[in-house]
Amino acid sequence: MAYTSYKKIDDVGRVVLPKDIREEVGLRLNDMLKIDVENERIVISKAEDTCVFCGKTGQLKKFMGKTVCESCVKELNNS
Ligand SMILES: [Zn+2]
Repeated sequence: MAYTSYKKIDDVGRVVLPKDIREEVGLRLNDMLKIDVENERIVISKAEDTCVFCGKTGQLKKFMGKTVCESCVKELNNS
């Protein structure tokens, strides 16, 4: 998908992502975004799920609504 939109930055630096862009990439309320600066460009993408304890991105499970990796699940089971 190619899409161009022009938005003003407000007085505290906020920018609204248009609804059709949010829907196109599957962003929902409270999703975490990753913001990278590459040369002169600001690249915003949907953040990968990470373990709430250690921040790893692989071998993740949902536990009581939170994302936890397998090694932290083992640590929890041994405590
Ligand atoms: Zn972990």
